[in-house]
Parts: sequence; structure tokens; C-alpha cells
Amino acid sequence: MLLTDKVALVTGSTSGIGLAIARTLAAEGARVMLNGFGDKDEIDTLREEMTKLSGDLAGYSDADLSDREAIDAMIARCTDELGSPSILVNNAGIQHVAPVDDFPPEKWDAILAVNLSAVFHTSRLCIPSMRQKGWGRIINTASAHSLVASPNKAPYVAAKHGVAGFTKAVALETARDGITVNCISPGYVWTPLVEKQIPDTMKARNMTEEQVMNDVLLSAQPTKRFVEPVEVAALALFLCRPEAGSITGANLSMDGGWTAQ
Ligand code: NAD
Repeated sequence: MLLTDKVALVTGSTSGIGLAIARTLAAEGARVMLNGFGDKDEIDTLREEMTKLSGDLAGYSDADLSDREAIDAMIARCTDELGSPSILVNNAGIQHVAPVDDFPPEKWDAILAVNLSAVFHTSRLCIPSMRQKGWGRIINTASAHSLVASPNKAPYVAAKHGVAGFTKAVALETARDGITVNCISPGYVWTPLVEKQIPDTMKARNMTEEQVMNDVLLSAQPTKRFVEPVEVAALALFLCRPEAGSITGANLSMDGGWTAQ
């Protein structure tokens, strides 16, 4: 298997895109460290599933990525239990939809902390051991919103543009170390994150659920279908392959043509 003996830390992997990435990496033999919130029994089941898929160890950290000390503890725990991560997938993300002059400042703080600052903290903590090994993959789940904007999502758009810029800078710093740093920018993927923003968007734009689906979400996506989490996971896996060693600092769109317009 491609990733035997590799340790992969996937943040926000108890749901949606992160879970699909964790499954795909485990199926290639990686020791996966899960992270994210959720029901304890369900998370135990996911951890067992990872072990079955990889035939190796799997772990879980409940670190809240808006908390710097919790991030330190997550990396230490992963290193103790599974080994230091040579694949870091910064995927955890949150969203809140409201006009900027109505946006709760504490939501701005939370979105910037989880979607952007956590990417800095995990990366700075993981890069030294990747450098020592001469091999590393940092894969950041950005978004089409790292390239273009939509109204009522100013903090999310700011954070995701930040992730794209951070990705480029760190790719340059690590280019000679066997480490690649990239982001994947999906369009709309059908996950709980998207499902949860429908009521707020209905309120913010005074629309029905059907109008939000067709006129807001899929209106920008020429394929008129949601991206599948497994499609994002397949690209993440490709970035771990030796053939992807020259892809670094890239922002790889997977958005059904959204940002081609
Ligand atoms: P999701 O809500 O299904 O999953 C989010 C994951 O992050 C969950 O595991 C959750 O527990 C975890 N998480 C949330 N807050 C956290 C915190 N403070 N600390 C630790 N973990 C936390 O969402 P998703 O759609 O799978 O999103 C994953 C990533 O993909 C996000 O970065 C999101 O911005 C990005 N993205 C999603 C879409 C989409 O349409 N779904 C599109 C583009 C980008």
C-alpha cells in the first residue's frame, strides 16, 4: 500500500470531507489520527474503521482547533501514539452566514481561528519532523472562496484567501525539503457544513430552501451538482503520491467550473 508506515493527521475528520480523506488515506495503509467533534460512540466506531482499513494503528484527538494549547497537545499525542505526522491535512472549518455589518465579532474570531490560524499552528509544529524525514505533505482544504467571494461570508472568504496565501509562502519555504504544501479548493460539497448554512441563507436572502439550493449554491457551479467528498479525497491521495512531488504551492480547484467563469 502507498502509505504504509506514514502517519496522517486529518483535522476535522469526524464528518464530511475530512472523514472521506481519512478513509482514503487509511485504505492506503496510513496510520490516521482523527480530530473533530461528535458523539463519542460514533467516533470510537470511526477509529475502529480506520484500523480495519489500514491494518495499523489509528488515533483520535478531540482538540478544539481554536485553542492553541489544544493544538500543541494534539500534535504531541499523535506523535506519542502513532508517530510524528508526515501527512498533515488541515481540513477543519466552520462557517457562519450574515451581512458584514451584522456579523457577530465572536464568530469572526472563531472562523479566523479554526479556518486560518489553526493551519499555521499545525504546520509550524509538524514541519520540523517532516524536514528531518525529508518527506512531508501538507494539504489544506481551502475553498472556491479562496479565489472568489460570495456575499454574507466575509470572514470565511477572508480566512480561505488567507489559507491560499499561507500555502504559497510555506511551499516556498519547504521546497527543498521533500515537503509539498498545497490547497484543494472545492466548490459546494454536500456535507453537514453546507446543509447547516441553508437556514441562515434563507433568512439573510429572504429565500425558500429550494431557491437557496438552486439560485445560491448550485447557481455558481456549472456542473449543477455537488462535489462528492470522495472526489476531494482522491485528489488528496494523489498529492501524497511520488508523481505529485513537483506540485507545491498550488491551489487546486475542484469546483465544477465555478471559478472558470
Ligand atoms: P463538516 O461540517 O462536515 O466537517 C467539519 C469538521 O470540522 C468536523 O469534523 C467538525 O467536528 C470539525 N470541526 C469544526 N470545528 C472544529 C474545531 N473548533 N476544532 C476541531 N474540529 C472542528 O464540513 P465539511 O463541509 O466537510 O468541511 C471541511 C472543510 O472543507 C472546511 O474547511 C470547509 O471550509 C471546506 N469546504 C467545504 C465545502 C463544502 O461545500 N462543504 C466547500 C469548500 C470548502
